[in-house]
Amino acid sequence: MINSKLIKKPYRVLIVDDQETNRDMLGMILKEQFEVIYASDGVEALKRIGENADTLSIVLLDIYMPNKTGFEVMEYMKEDEQLRNIPIIVLTSEKSAELKALQLGASDFITKPFDTPEVIIARIKRIIELCDGRKLISTAEHDPLTKLYSRNFFYEYAIRLYTYHPELHMDAVAIDIEQFHSLNALHGREFGDKILRLLSDEIRKFLKETEGIASRLEADRFEIYCLRQKDYKALLDRLQKGVNSSLPNVNIRMRMGVKEWSEDIEPLLMFDYAKAACNMARGSYQRPVIVFDELMQKREVYNQRLLNDMRTAIEEGQFTVFYQPKYDIQGERPRLCSAEALVRWQHPELGMIAPGDFIPLFEEKGLIGIVDSFVWRESAKQIAEWKRKYGITIPVSVNVSRADAVDTSLVDKLTELIKSNGFAFKDMKLEITESAYTDGTAQLINIVKSLRNVGFEIEMDDFGSGYSSLNMLSSMPIDVLKMDMKFIRNIEHNETDRRLVTLIIDLAKHLGVPVVAEGVETDKQLEILKAEGCDLVQGYYFSPPVPPEEFEKLIQKEIEEGKAK
Ligand code: C2E
Ligand code: CA
Ligand code: CA
Repeated sequence: MINSKLIKKPYRVLIVDDQETNRDMLGMILKEQFEVIYASDGVEALKRIGENADTLSIVLLDIYMPNKTGFEVMEYMKEDEQLRNIPIIVLTSEKSAELKALQLGASDFITKPFDTPEVIIARIKRIIELCDGRKLISTAEHDPLTKLYSRNFFYEYAIRLYTYHPELHMDAVAIDIEQFHSLNALHGREFGDKILRLLSDEIRKFLKETEGIASRLEADRFEIYCLRQKDYKALLDRLQKGVNSSLPNVNIRMRMGVKEWSEDIEPLLMFDYAKAACNMARGSYQRPVIVFDELMQKREVYNQRLLNDMRTAIEEGQFTVFYQPKYDIQGERPRLCSAEALVRWQHPELGMIAPGDFIPLFEEKGLIGIVDSFVWRESAKQIAEWKRKYGITIPVSVNVSRADAVDTSLVDKLTELIKSNGFAFKDMKLEITESAYTDGTAQLINIVKSLRNVGFEIEMDDFGSGYSSLNMLSSMPIDVLKMDMKFIRNIEHNETDRRLVTLIIDLAKHLGVPVVAEGVETDKQLEILKAEGCDLVQGYYFSPPVPPEEFEKLIQKEIEEGKAK
């Protein structure tokens, strides 16, 4: 698309620099496309700006000059109603000047010696367009730490590029630093800030060679909107290498998600997809770069549907709770002793949805609390009902997500449930996955401790899938170890897994807590576990998770066999 405005009325550009060679060089680059005027120091600059206040499209401003510095020129312009909205690009070779220039309202930088001519021209045009007439954005906003564009400015800019320059096929790129939280915790915040600055420097270097813009949205999340690159893995490697070359003692790894340009998807959605792809690459050594594809898009649409439907589903009772029995296997006969509550979603159009499809999604979006609270309420009612009906208490374990376990009102919420349903704390046990402990905060540990103080029993779920060290384990507040299913799957055939199971059982004995093995499906697995001294077993061998009516048959059977307590 040819910008007709450019032809009819070329933009007027003021180049301010005390070095003649700089003025000439920049003038040569720009004069084909812009009407260029010059000033050789700050005083002359203000004179030209005053004369051309109505017609000047942009000022390219050197900082260190005789008479008046660039900073003084900027300060003057900032105070003046009419001059305030003329965009400024700072010409600098001094990194130290950048922050101050940004604070005074500069939109961008051109570094000396000058960048690639096409990039300079493109950048000047973009800034002019951005500030021209449409009044949406007048001054650029930057993230103070990295000096990249702020989130809002970045997105507005991207939307403008998409709207006014459909001929530019721009891709959305999202970048995260792996384990940034741990790096911060381990080496301190200053070190974390240093990494962020180094990465933004590398991104800026990259943007000197191609057309694009970048932002740090928050924490360690960076986004780039740039012309299609041939090889994004190469880009990631390059950024990573650049950062690591300045950090002799650590090796930073990053991940990247890309959504390639497509005509009908506007930038905000593109960045949602890029972010989703970036999340998928989390922790993956093999695939640190993921380009969002059609399948993922379908998944994303599906996920969006689940997110939208969730509240209605709660209201309309589409969620139900299934119960899976746990059996004590150390006696003569296996004895039904408790259950785990597992949520099910019977969707009116999509059918039965497995928890694996929505639990991680709701966790990620911070919505899991709503579902979990529902499951806790239902389970509490169920415990009370069974107690009434059969005169025995079947303790039920409920799952507590990481996000639930950092909520300071959790103890009160659960206590209230126990009190209003009239049973003991130990009758509703809480399963918390191992990884919540290991990458969790001190806050989580404190909340778990207070849960135990009021009388709840805590089961560490999926034990062995995370990375708790022995020494961590002995100081963690837990009452039961629940072994991860993956160990059980192969105990019959795999000597290593079998030894690991033995080790975990010994470990639990050492800690003085019982062990639950879940995912037990065969006679042989049961036999091995019993021989090794495992206390409790849960799995298809006894029963899959079933609706309450079905579970009652198991209770009745147990009572008939006279073995329930
Ligand atoms: P989990 O807590 O580790 O639950 C055990 C899962 O293993 C359940 O899958 C259960 O159906 C399945 N399972 C039980 N026995 C066997 C067996 O013998 N073989 C095999 N192959 N699988 C078995 P489900 O119900 O699909 O739940 C999957 C995960 O979803 C759960 O893993 C848990 O992390 C999460 N989840 C389920 N319900 C809830 C809930 O109410 N709240 C939260 N926060 N998470 C839940
Ligand atoms: Ca569980
Ligand atoms: Ca588990």
